[in-house]
Amino acid sequence: MTATGSDLQGRVDDVFGRIADAARLVDRDPATLTTIVVTKFHSDALVRELHGLGLRDVGENRHQEAQAKVAATADLAGLRWHFVGQLQSKKAKQARAYTFAVHSLDRDSVVDALGVDDGISLEGFVQINLTDDPGRGGVSADGLEPLVERVLGTPGLRLRGVMAVAPLDEEPRSAFARLRDLSDRVRALDPAADQISAGMSHDFAEAIAEGATHLRIGTAITGNRPEAR
Ligand SMILES: *Cc1c(COP(=O)(O)O)cnc(C)c1O
Repeated sequence: MTATGSDLQGRVDDVFGRIADAARLVDRDPATLTTIVVTKFHSDALVRELHGLGLRDVGENRHQEAQAKVAATADLAGLRWHFVGQLQSKKAKQARAYTFAVHSLDRDSVVDALGVDDGISLEGFVQINLTDDPGRGGVSADGLEPLVERVLGTPGLRLRGVMAVAPLDEEPRSAFARLRDLSDRVRALDPAADQISAGMSHDFAEAIAEGATHLRIGTAITGNRPEAR
């Protein structure tokens, strides 16, 4: 399904309005928030439409799809690609070439593979698993400090903060409150790593209330995703 221009504009206006409302409700300035539009499964035409509406931060969760879309939109100035999915270590160097920020640093091997001393700082967020299920993405809270230290010791990576997805079986607000505490632990190791990537289409207001700085919003803006290919 491809969004028509006017529908897309309407959804963008609606979501940005709700983001601003959620921020003001907790005395935060909406201008301090970064909204990433997650375009996974959608065509590069949607990225083009978003760019035409003035949006610059887009997110993808699979390397092959991202790489193709980056190539197809290479003529668009100023796009920032955020990688939000699990990254295979063997694809990490390729992903580094087009990525502005990786939100899914979840293990040593991917951190090591992304680290290249090439004078460019790739922004990174350590992804934390807020569930009890080790099969979910992210490092467990127990493993947080060692992974953070690893990122801090890796050339070519600049730690911005933490990232998480709210568990399905917990109130998002309480999950994001836990994330905020984990963010404090990261800031104790690096005061500059104070950003929080949290909040999706259905829980961004709760994330904003708990200090999120980077929202990752898909369907509320893009419309329903086409079936996974
Ligand atoms: C798909 C995805 C999103 C966006 O999800 P929506 O519910 O469509 O807003 C955010 N974060 C990650 C990691 C995703 O994979």
